[in-house]
Amino acid sequence: MQFEQGNNLPRVRVTNQSAILRMVYHFGPITRADIAKRLDLTLPTITTNINDMMTAGVVQELDAPEPMDHRHGRRSRPLDIVPNARQFIGVEMRGSESAACLTDYRGQVLCSRSVPSPSRDYEDNLDLTCRLIRSMLDDRGLTFDDVDGLGFCVPGLVDTRSGVLNVRPSYNWYDKNLLRDVKRRLRFDKPITIENNACARAYGASLFQRELLNDVPTFAYLFIHMGIACPLILNSSSSFGSIVGAGEVGHMVMEPNGPQCTCGNHGCLEAISSDRAIISRCMDALARGGAPILRTLCPKGEEPSMANILQAQREGDSDVYLIVERAVYTLGLAIANIDNFTCPRIMLIEGELFRAPANRQQLLDVVHRNICKVTRTDTDFVFVEPDQFSGARGAAAVAIFHDLGSGAG
Ligand SMILES: [Zn+2]
Repeated sequence: MQFEQGNNLPRVRVTNQSAILRMVYHFGPITRADIAKRLDLTLPTITTNINDMMTAGVVQELDAPEPMDHRHGRRSRPLDIVPNARQFIGVEMRGSESAACLTDYRGQVLCSRSVPSPSRDYEDNLDLTCRLIRSMLDDRGLTFDDVDGLGFCVPGLVDTRSGVLNVRPSYNWYDKNLLRDVKRRLRFDKPITIENNACARAYGASLFQRELLNDVPTFAYLFIHMGIACPLILNSSSSFGSIVGAGEVGHMVMEPNGPQCTCGNHGCLEAISSDRAIISRCMDALARGGAPILRTLCPKGEEPSMANILQAQREGDSDVYLIVERAVYTLGLAIANIDNFTCPRIMLIEGELFRAPANRQQLLDVVHRNICKVTRTDTDFVFVEPDQFSGARGAAAVAIFHDLGSGAG
């Protein structure tokens, strides 16, 4: 692919800068010659752009000697990103809790903080989240001048261009312009990105798990929480982390006569296998006088947490066992179908359910039993340890992606 062709020189320059910066980000330490080869650009174009980035302080030459660059008769020093050149805030706002973190350019978390949300109301959540961001910066003695971008992620469908939340059937978040509202509240005049929280996690994996994912052409990120989504990511020689659709797999019908979903249909994947569905089934079992072990873990009629449920499962509560087994089985079938359709090289799986090794094993057994033997791919299934800040860090990754795309000069 040629990046430097065309008549619109300023735009070509930004495109080249952005492509070169992404290459350094993803493959650094990398030599100028390797970048030229990967992008099919001339060495002088690389050198000019790299000089600008070094002047701006975002790219550095490392000391490690590399093999002789024969064409120029000198040793070519490898280049890499300057991790502390820029700082980004990532935020996940999801109705029950908000979490925020400040990261460097490489996604290292410099500080983080979270707060439970007493209400699902959109305005209340936004106020709470904006206070959280300000207090996190205040405590570190920083202001928005020290921040180069702000990434927000939320559950549900998001129009990433306009920042409007499209679907939030169970919340009053429908049609809210989150981008405009954040800008107004924080008076933050640098780039703000808004993304779905499963896609944000996929971006986070793409940027911050380079050892695992840089050489794979495709990977998927299955995120199970109150909903279920599985964005698919394509990597090519010149473009990384292109998300193909939001992967809203939660509403594929798995049991036509199954439990009703929040979307109105029956037997959707997330009506059986999401944390919300599992908790709701367990509440039903408690109300019927069942789930005796779970009852001892949440005695006052409180809603059980996923941690309570996994403990009850481990301790042999047969009602809880059956609910979880059905959820894992259905998820396994869904993954086999997703895999047959998309054939990702790696599928990352994040969900509270899979803190339990027995559930991981059951899931893999169901997947391998049901994957099509003819088109069978060699997908590696990798479990990601659930982390309170994985969404916030993913949101910061989206802000970093945006920064790389702008050339970051
Ligand atoms: Zn549904």
